[in-house]
Amino acid sequence: MVVILENNATDEQIKNVKQHLEDFGFQIHESSGVQRTILGAIGVKPGFDTRKVRILEGVADVYRVTSPFKLASRNFKEEKTIIKIKDVEIGGDKIAVMAGPCSIESEEQIFKLAEVVAKSGSKILRGGAFKPRSSPYSFQGMGEEGLKLMRKAADEFGLLVITEVMQIDQIDLIGKYTDIFQLGARNMQNFSLLKELSKSRIPVMVKRGLSATIEEWLMSGEYILSGGNKNVILCERGIRTFEPYTRNTFDLSAIPVVQKRSHLPIVADPSHATGYRDQVPPMARAAVAAGADALMMEIHHDPENAMSDGPQALLPDTFITLMGELRAIAAAIGKTI
Ligand code: PEP
Ligand code: MN
Repeated sequence: MVVILENNATDEQIKNVKQHLEDFGFQIHESSGVQRTILGAIGVKPGFDTRKVRILEGVADVYRVTSPFKLASRNFKEEKTIIKIKDVEIGGDKIAVMAGPCSIESEEQIFKLAEVVAKSGSKILRGGAFKPRSSPYSFQGMGEEGLKLMRKAADEFGLLVITEVMQIDQIDLIGKYTDIFQLGARNMQNFSLLKELSKSRIPVMVKRGLSATIEEWLMSGEYILSGGNKNVILCERGIRTFEPYTRNTFDLSAIPVVQKRSHLPIVADPSHATGYRDQVPPMARAAVAAGADALMMEIHHDPENAMSDGPQALLPDTFITLMGELRAIAAAIGKTI
């Protein structure tokens, strides 16, 4: 149930409404916009008469939310969520770009690529230190050593860091080095991990599962929101279909679907979505045109020898050129990069 308070509701009235909701047995989540306060009351009982809330002083409107995701929905929060991390915003009119290697491989590698990221005008350095690999024989990541190197490189070039957390016992360690947690596609429905991440205040980017519906993906975001972490970002990274000419199928239409139903920022990852270097620029351009709030792309200066995902990594020069093209497309839809 969503309870919309009058624009001029007093603090006393808001407190009273909350007290009533608690007495009725609801769990309350507050969203204070510029204009008005909205209360999300979770746990609506089938027979509950919403008029009991409607008549309280200061209440403008009450309605039930029928979608299974509530805090993530536009009904609960109409204005878009803008996540601010230091001097970077994700979700506003400036499209954020996250770029870097699939895996951190060495000090030299991450510094080289951080320099490219900064030169391109992007603000966020990506790179995995703990890698979810399909094969146990593949490179599993540099671990804490990699985190240290990436933080050092990011600080040197004035960038934020995003890196993947695979399990609960890595949260504290990774939290010391990162600005954003990446929840990988394979962990989208790792509910115990979601619950632990919900206790953090570090933003979490939830990648869409390989065969997750948009609703399931939004429900994973809901887990994090419901535990109290409001800094949730979604990431479309392609879904598994019958098509072998691409690594995954980039579900571009997820972008407008999410924009309509949710206030959460959405990132597009054309690197994992396509899996091939030549397909990344066209799909990155398409994602900006489709309204993505941010992009995530893998780059590498020596992709032939990359420890993971070399075939989809853009060369630095291609990436810099692409950024120029993306700026032109962004301008056409009233945004900047
Ligand atoms: C990655 O970003 O390198 C990664 C492993 O992504 P995904 O979880 O989308 O496969
Ligand atoms: Mn990768």
